[in-house]
Amino acid sequence: MATNNIVVLGAGVSGLTTAYLLSQDPKNNITVLAKHMPGDYDVEYASPWAGANYMPVGKEGSHHQAWERATWPALKEITEKYPEAGIHFRGSVIYNRKKDQETATGDWFSELVQPNPWYKDVVPDFKTTPDDQLAPGIDNAQEFTSVCINTAVYLPWLVGQCVKNGAVFKRAVLKHIADAASAHHTGQKADVVVNCTGLSAKTLGGVLDEKMYPARGQIVVVRNDPGPMVSASGTDDGEDEALYIMTRAAGGGTILGGSYQKHNWDGTPDMNLANRIMKRCIKICPSLVKEGQGIEGLDIIRHGVGLRPLREGGTRIEKDKVNGVAVVHNYGHGGFGFQASFGCAYATVSLVKDVLQNKSLAKL
Ligand SMILES: Cc1cc2nc3c(=O)[nH]c(=O)nc-3n(C[C@H](O)[C@H](O)[C@H](O)COP(=O)(O)OP(=O)(O)OC[C@H]3O[C@@H](n4cnc5c(N)ncnc54)[C@H](O)[C@@H]3O)c2cc1C
Repeated sequence: MATNNIVVLGAGVSGLTTAYLLSQDPKNNITVLAKHMPGDYDVEYASPWAGANYMPVGKEGSHHQAWERATWPALKEITEKYPEAGIHFRGSVIYNRKKDQETATGDWFSELVQPNPWYKDVVPDFKTTPDDQLAPGIDNAQEFTSVCINTAVYLPWLVGQCVKNGAVFKRAVLKHIADAASAHHTGQKADVVVNCTGLSAKTLGGVLDEKMYPARGQIVVVRNDPGPMVSASGTDDGEDEALYIMTRAAGGGTILGGSYQKHNWDGTPDMNLANRIMKRCIKICPSLVKEGQGIEGLDIIRHGVGLRPLREGGTRIEKDKVNGVAVVHNYGHGGFGFQASFGCAYATVSLVKDVLQNKSLAKL
């Protein structure tokens, strides 16, 4: 049987989902190379820090919307079929204040908080809150069933699926994307390299994508479990601060967020921001703590900071040739890398197939 030697560079959710799909074809012989692997916590590695839930933010008619739409059925199927993957269904409440529209956070959530959003036909149980039940200051609100992914379980689960399908994982720190082609575990040159390096696409030789920039997300992980997930269009604490609460599957704790600080590379938690996050989460969701308690009622597991890999002009899923090496890019997923993971990986796999088909034709 003809084999395709493929190197996937990056073991975040983008690289692992792409490798998972590619590994389902027995003709593909895959090496996953990465500086960071599931289990690591590092500010250069976004995926472990994500909540992660499915809160669609892609604008109607965009590729982004199509990727998020395509991802829901895959996440639903994994949730139903593989409880060991660390994903569960959770009710989700979204609050919108029109006054947040012009802020960084309001812009990020603008599609999510639409009263009549495109995703109402994608997720189950969508319903709008009647106007007479809205709390003061809230202009509209809605509820639906979403998922919450325990990244500490899901990312290793993806690794396990890839390994089961024959993929080989290796640690490596590459200076240039073309070097990945010589790092296939067989010792043969790879036919194609898939670039899933997230924010590092900015500094990786052969890519050097100046459109990449971070949106810093600070979180507090607690043992308290308030029930449904909550998200809001903004806060009164700062235009790039955010408000969301999500309880992860399988004992992963509850994530209190957050922030959306563009161009901020600081990986150290800011304790003043942490206090504001905890206070506003309790204000919007008093059931986080016992009656009458404030932030002293939160049982903190850890503070964290991750950098969302944003890209001016949007995610890059594209074929390329660098120093004679065929490359397919899949990076720049901002704050939606999990909720668009399968849609982006399907698009990437389709480009990889084009490259491999052209290789076969060239040999004829
Ligand atoms: C606080 C926070 C909350 C979030 N919440 C959500 C959410 O609820 N839902 C959602 O969908 N998304 C969420 N996100 C966004 C999501 O986390 C990212 O979009 C996603 O993790 C990006 O994944 P990635 O695989 O592209 O990049 P990364 O996870 O950063 O992985 C990059 C990989 O490339 C490797 N790499 C890079 N350069 C090199 C090199 N030179 N040599 C070798 N290896 C290299 C790294 O080691 C790593 O393995 C959140 C992000 C943050 C920070």
